[in-house]
Amino acid sequence: MAFNDLLGPADTIASVLVPVAVPGAYTYRVPAGETVVPGTIVKVPLGSREVLGAVWDVEPDTGIDPKKLKYISRVYTHARPIDADLRRFVDWVANWTLAPPGMVLRMVLRSEEALEPEAPVAGVRWVSGRQPDRKTPARARVLDILGDGLAWTKTGLAHAAGVSASVIDGLLAQEVLEVIEMPAAPPPPQPQIDYSRVALTPAQQVAADGICGCFEKGPSVSLIDGVTGSGKTEVYFEAIAEALRRGKQALVLVPEIALTEQFLRRFEQRFGTYPAEWHSEITPKTRVRVWRGVANGEVRVVIGARSSLFLPFLDLGLIVVDEEHDTAFKQDDRVSYSARDMAVVRGHLSGFPVVLASATPSIESRVNADQGRYLRFLLPDRASGAALPDLQAIDMRVEGPERGRWIAPALLSAIRHVFAEGDQTLLFLNRRGYAPLTLCRTCGHRFQCPHCSAWLVEHRFQKRLVCHHCGHFEKVPDTCPSCSSKDTLAACGPGVERVAEEVADLFPQARTLVLSSDIQGGPDRLRREMKIVEEGGADIVIGTQLVAKGHNFPKMKLVGVIDADLGLAHGDPRAAEKTFQLLAQVTGRAGRVTGGGRGFLQTYAPDQPVIRALLSADRDAFYAAEIDARRAAGLPPFGRLVAIVVSGPDKGLAEAYARAVLRSAPPAQDLTILGPAEAALAMVRGRHRYRLLALAPRRFDLQAYIRAWLSAAPRPVKGLRLQVDVDPQHF
Ligand code: ADP
Ligand code: ZN
Ligand code: ZN
Repeated sequence: MAFNDLLGPADTIASVLVPVAVPGAYTYRVPAGETVVPGTIVKVPLGSREVLGAVWDVEPDTGIDPKKLKYISRVYTHARPIDADLRRFVDWVANWTLAPPGMVLRMVLRSEEALEPEAPVAGVRWVSGRQPDRKTPARARVLDILGDGLAWTKTGLAHAAGVSASVIDGLLAQEVLEVIEMPAAPPPPQPQIDYSRVALTPAQQVAADGICGCFEKGPSVSLIDGVTGSGKTEVYFEAIAEALRRGKQALVLVPEIALTEQFLRRFEQRFGTYPAEWHSEITPKTRVRVWRGVANGEVRVVIGARSSLFLPFLDLGLIVVDEEHDTAFKQDDRVSYSARDMAVVRGHLSGFPVVLASATPSIESRVNADQGRYLRFLLPDRASGAALPDLQAIDMRVEGPERGRWIAPALLSAIRHVFAEGDQTLLFLNRRGYAPLTLCRTCGHRFQCPHCSAWLVEHRFQKRLVCHHCGHFEKVPDTCPSCSSKDTLAACGPGVERVAEEVADLFPQARTLVLSSDIQGGPDRLRREMKIVEEGGADIVIGTQLVAKGHNFPKMKLVGVIDADLGLAHGDPRAAEKTFQLLAQVTGRAGRVTGGGRGFLQTYAPDQPVIRALLSADRDAFYAAEIDARRAAGLPPFGRLVAIVVSGPDKGLAEAYARAVLRSAPPAQDLTILGPAEAALAMVRGRHRYRLLALAPRRFDLQAYIRAWLSAAPRPVKGLRLQVDVDPQHF
């Protein structure tokens, strides 16, 4: 930076947030001739690298001699500075999640290319009034297209006119046409507010009016609590229309990329064009375009995964969180945050409405609605008028199938009936692969992951034993690795592949489809398969939770839950809530449009409260009991919870470190610290994990406490790691 020194001393300094795990910002000198404001995006030297960052403060009072500081190496003058609302949001998220603010900022600065000015491309245009020496038919076609005065790329024009490039070159040589610079991409088509509207049902209308009435009032949260198929989507489409009417941008968060496809099509039917998509599967080019479009306001509506919460919207005015209860909204790596909760925060900080939608709201949102913090809109009936599915339990102790089979006779005859009628069945089992456990019948050897405390799962299509936690896999051996017996390995229990095998055996004529995240061919293939199901191109679908959510499968009449007890096996106090939500969602796929849907729950515990609540359709009683239990135990949302997870390659050292961390906890009234205990998964990827849980009443400033605790705690050394998880999913 000697050049700048020659120009004279630069006297401005700025603190810059950089995307690394340090507690605060670093201070830099601003090169002479450059201006920065809070939010300006910059590049700065950091050690031996250069990293993207954002100015967080100008002229901070650091007391450092500016001459000792390094210079900002680049100021992105073409990118809009990160506005005050988004900066406050970044700080808020960092403060809440106890993550370094730079790591939160990292989620904003997702595309370096998007910060560059958009490079124009060369276009050709008719120089008005000029005519060629000879007007051949080919030349006439070209000039006809250019008659409106607009510019085209050469290849685009040649294609449109059906001529070779030499025709255009000829016209350029005669200076009838000229080359100009034009924008690389035309602005995306805009959603049309009144493109096509359905007549809302009275309950939908009440909800839509109520939510649209919130735009005047500043921040608000509305919970659309509506049964599966009640038309929640149509209601929040009205909220999006209202945001657009007010010149605001809107964001819709969905828990699963697989849900975007159907959403895009429905949005197009309603608004005449697709919204922008933002998630891990979009191409780098789309990423640049959407980031820019969101920042300059050309993109009006985004549908995306949780990370879209950190996009630099020009003027965001609404966030919708669909399937708000879904645990996929919680991110657990690096910055561990709940996108649902942070959506509420973003709306609150910027003063706009947030809409949460679910057929099975989270306990947290139910309590917030009960206590009047959220508005609640109930949609008790399906929009089509179809009745909710008729559910029944199959007591596997007395009505189960024969050994080695997984579909009970009662379910089997229902499938037969539905198949004969030409309708669809979904068999739901939340277990990927063929069998969850493989063992040797001679010596009892069980196949376990060498890196995790988990069994290896057989995947028969791939002929592999796979660990679902770290991805480790091995070939299925012919002989037992422990006693060397041949052909003694037995698969225990079912996975979706095994149920599919049984279905193929029982219904050889049926078109079957297995839908799980193991699908080969990535998200595109998955979308295609979802569409096949939607259009009735499969008779029997065997699927994991991937098919449980949000999808609208008009021909699906029957849902059979192969193992309704599966999620209840954990000791986790959230297990009942999560299982209830999952099973209500999945059985809600049945008969959505035409009614007459049926659901079967295969269970060994038909008297379990979750099963009883599902059968009696008495959601309120179930929620009331769950809420009472949480209140009595002081668990969220009545108490606040932070988990500290300590891990390391050596079990003894990890446990000793966890104990040392516990000993460093400052004394505090009203606070309970549990543990250290082995985490639910005691070993993952070769790391042994111990967990400490801090539980405190709502009024307790748990973040401040944990911050003080961590500054007093011994540093992790020798491959040890310490991670903080605020509001953990598992208690
Ligand atoms: P949800 O999001 O509550 O599960 P959807 O919005 O997907 O429900 O609606 C379920 C079905 O009902 C869809 O096929 C949708 O097109 C239809 N639908 C929703 N609202 C109406 C309405 N007011 N009139 C007619 N059909 C509707
Ligand atoms: Zn053996
Ligand atoms: Zn593993």
